[in-house]
Amino acid sequence: MTVEARARFLRDQKGTVVGILGIYRDITERKQIEEALRQAHAELEQRVQQRTADLARTNEALRAEIAERKRAEDAARAAEREYRALFENAVEGIYRSSLDGHQLRANPALVKLNGYESEAEMLPAVNNIATEWYVDPHRREEFQRILAEQESVTAFESEVYRHKTRERIWISESARLVRDQHGTPLYYEGMVQDITTRKRAEEALQNDHIELEKRVRERTTALLHSNTALQAEIEERKRVETALRQNEEQYRDLFENANDVIGIGTLDHIITSINRRIEQILGYPREEFVGKYFHDFATPRSRALLEDRTRRRLAGDQVSPTVELELVHRDNSIVIVEGTAHIRRDPDGKPIDIQAIYRDITARKRAEAALEQLRQQHELILTSAGEGILGSDAQGRATFVNPIGARMLGYEVHELLGQPLHDQIHHHKADGTPYPFAECPSLQVVRNGHTARVTNEVYWRKDGTSFPVEYLTAPIRNNANEVIGFVSTFRDITERKEVERIKDELISTVSHELRTPLASLRGFAELMLKRNFTPEKQHELLSVIHNEAIRLTHLIDDFLDLQRIEGGHQPYTFVSLALEPLFRNSLELFAKVGGSHLLRLELASALPRVRGDANRLRQVLVNLISNAIKFSPHGGEIEIGARTETHQVVVWVKDQGVGIPHEALPKLFTKFFRVDNSDTYNISGTGLGLALVREIVHAHQGKVWVDSTPRVGSTFFFTLPSHR
Ligand code: ADP
Repeated sequence: MTVEARARFLRDQKGTVVGILGIYRDITERKQIEEALRQAHAELEQRVQQRTADLARTNEALRAEIAERKRAEDAARAAEREYRALFENAVEGIYRSSLDGHQLRANPALVKLNGYESEAEMLPAVNNIATEWYVDPHRREEFQRILAEQESVTAFESEVYRHKTRERIWISESARLVRDQHGTPLYYEGMVQDITTRKRAEEALQNDHIELEKRVRERTTALLHSNTALQAEIEERKRVETALRQNEEQYRDLFENANDVIGIGTLDHIITSINRRIEQILGYPREEFVGKYFHDFATPRSRALLEDRTRRRLAGDQVSPTVELELVHRDNSIVIVEGTAHIRRDPDGKPIDIQAIYRDITARKRAEAALEQLRQQHELILTSAGEGILGSDAQGRATFVNPIGARMLGYEVHELLGQPLHDQIHHHKADGTPYPFAECPSLQVVRNGHTARVTNEVYWRKDGTSFPVEYLTAPIRNNANEVIGFVSTFRDITERKEVERIKDELISTVSHELRTPLASLRGFAELMLKRNFTPEKQHELLSVIHNEAIRLTHLIDDFLDLQRIEGGHQPYTFVSLALEPLFRNSLELFAKVGGSHLLRLELASALPRVRGDANRLRQVLVNLISNAIKFSPHGGEIEIGARTETHQVVVWVKDQGVGIPHEALPKLFTKFFRVDNSDTYNISGTGLGLALVREIVHAHQGKVWVDSTPRVGSTFFFTLPSHR
């Protein structure tokens, strides 16, 4: 317990001490409360600081702090109430004052409180408590009113002046109205406590609190602002995040479900990610690709191509971003892809990685290849066809000409394309009269849609010459079945015409040649039937008939031989042959016949063997020797010779006969050709012998020719390749 003690001696009138008056006041509670207040305050201060710091962290924490503050404040208020209650009866000063405002008594504490030294000094100085003591002049009225009503007043706090010094202090009064036995109010008695310190502390606390509230409000506002801003930012972030996620999902979706292969790789071509499409294209799960070189899945050819591209790119060459590659499927089939790769860069332009997109073009490639093959086939058909082919639009302008057709017409293909064909190659008829386009059979085809075959017209070459043609013109129709042009296939029939001419000639020649002996056969036979001849004459006539029959037989034999040889139906038996026995053997035939001619053999020594058919070569020699005899009506020497040349043997038959006129030489070896002049007038023949000779020599890969001077003689030569 803490006490405040005051003691005074009590004396009698003589001044002798008769006792001691002691006043003890228990101030323990006051002290404790003061201490509590002080501590609460300090604690509060500390908390405020701490909370202020915390405020910055979160608004939530701040609210909690405010709540905590409120609680602390409530506690402080409670403490203060208690404090006040305790002080209500605690007395600092004691007084007695008159109802009219004079100080009747004042204890030393009150005296001291009012700045006086003693009661004696103080009492006369106070004349009007209401105006002199209370700062608020109406305070005393209030004080008196309460006392009048309630007899007592407690804890009546007022601001007052220390009476002597006029210093303003705060006091708390407790007082009662003292009455006499009749109840008449006598005076007031009361206790005064100086509560200035407490008031100041309270005030300071209040100020602090206000300041704190203000700071809290400020912080709260600031935090609210920043919180709102943060909130807005968070909202924005969320929105962006959602948008990004959606975007990302879209991109992932695009990436995953793209119809093309999309792959990302390092700058040195190692695959870092690739979409699912690759699984369909190459048959491996896509995990197999990651970490491998893209090149690993290409054929060696494509790998080389990729490496070459990389090399060229590194060398600074422009490389097309698109590349066609062959990849190898898991089942070893080849997949053709068309790829585009580009280097992705960061905002500073530094390369990050390679993004590549590959499209499976195998089907397209196959279709292209098939088309190309078809095109080549068509082209081949058109260009290799033995006939000319002309394509034209409905107006008659050339849209297609095959090379053979152009060559036949003496043009280059490009010279005819786009040109009006009729004006170019069909402008005149065979007889030289103009051929109007309107009459052109090809134009009729365009008009009526019917195919036309023409066999007796001519086409004109670039050089102005013409040739007989046979052509077939067919309409070209579009999908709507309308005729949009025509195609003509034509053939140069010069040769055929010539063959026809030769055939006609041949027939007339043959029939003439056959008719001559037949006519004499018939004539002699008729003669013998109509008249009676002597047996000698009959024999003579029959000999003529016999000879004519032999001649006819020869003619037919020669002709059939020639036909067989020309038609390629004559079988040859080529063997290694020595020529000399063949020569001797042939000469023997003529020796038997006899005659005025001298037959001489002139053979070079060591003749090589030849490859040939002995019977056919004998036929050649016999024909030439018999001609030599036949066309040397005055006899003379006939030389049969042979000499060796490089890789061949040259054989000749030389006579001293009638010779052959120069102009006859080119036709000498053709069928039925015979020199018809006075020298040969009486010499019979078929004109087939030399034609046969030529065919047989050619079949032996040899050549035949003649040297001749009329009336001097002829030498027929032919060669045979020597047999090695
Ligand atoms: P043919 O002897 O039956 O008339 P060939 O075809 O053997 O028929 O001869 C054709 C022609 O060539 C003869 O009619 C003749 O005019 C000429 N001819 C052939 N051989 C000789 C020759 N040795 N001397 C002169 N003319 C010849």
